[in-house]
Amino acid sequence: MKYITVIGAGTMGNGIAHVFAQSGFNVQLFDISEDALQRAVATIGKNMDRQIAKELLSEADKAAALDRLQTGTDLGTAVAAADLVVEAATENTAIKFQLFKDLDELAPANCILASNTSSISITKIAAQTSRPDKVIGMHFMNPVPVMKLVEIINGYSTSKETTDAVVKMSAALCKVPVSCNDYPGFVANRILMPMINEAIIALHEGVAGVEEIDTIMKLGMAHPMGPLQLADFIGLDVCLSILNVLYDGLGNTKYAPCPLLVNMVTAGKKGVKSGEGFYDYSEGVKNAKVSQQFI
Ligand code: NAD
Repeated sequence: MKYITVIGAGTMGNGIAHVFAQSGFNVQLFDISEDALQRAVATIGKNMDRQIAKELLSEADKAAALDRLQTGTDLGTAVAAADLVVEAATENTAIKFQLFKDLDELAPANCILASNTSSISITKIAAQTSRPDKVIGMHFMNPVPVMKLVEIINGYSTSKETTDAVVKMSAALCKVPVSCNDYPGFVANRILMPMINEAIIALHEGVAGVEEIDTIMKLGMAHPMGPLQLADFIGLDVCLSILNVLYDGLGNTKYAPCPLLVNMVTAGKKGVKSGEGFYDYSEGVKNAKVSQQFI
């Protein structure tokens, strides 16, 4: 596989395009927004400069990688020669279903169609296409150039050939691919999100404050950040939507999102991206927040 198309040039798409281009693949980065494409190329350049400063990349490698990266807003052109498509568009079922219908029509018949979805069923995405055996989940972690794991999700109809090819491809990116089957939340979010939800419930019940909960989990479990800060970083709206997928898909009340999380998202407090979540980011740095009146 040589030709890779990345769909969606946001947080994840630019990171995925970055690692493929850096690893020697020809990359077409597609988005419906020209602005998003321009921002993505600027971000990739900036992140490569960071790698250069840490002596992880040379100036020549950066130039060669950027030469292998093309951008565009025409889907047909972007996938015409693709061996592998990695879809990282907005986490919205209708958008992804339409994209996979279009990709099935426009991409070569032997092309593998992967999705970076955090929570949408790979089996349902595959059912939008005439090649469900070639549809798979390739769940990169944020930030993609730094994080080693790729969670590989096998849909009900994914063939062994497809899984083997994607595992091999992930290893070629110097990542560690780990396979699992397609059930709500896969593995990473099925385990992470209940932990985050439990931290919010503990806060909601007044067991401890934001900083106490985070410090206990950080120092006690050797986690790099506490669950409430991590939730802010992921986005509280994203956490809520994944918990709803777990709750609906597994039918168990243990996944029911904490009412405090629901209230915060409804009030527009989405974490880092909105400037406020469990912490206040309005001054560009993290400060303790959440007044008792919300709890
Ligand atoms: P984002 O909002 O940063 O970027 C999404 C991009 O998709 C935008 O640039 C938007 O213009 C584009 N887009 C929307 N509709 C499109 C379409 N029809 N065709 C092409 N592009 C389209 O989102 P993100 O955080 O990068 O998330 C992308 C995917 O990655 C989601 O499925 C998400 O669940 C998954 N994911 C996110 C994270 C994370 O930490 N952000 C981690 C793992 C997986």
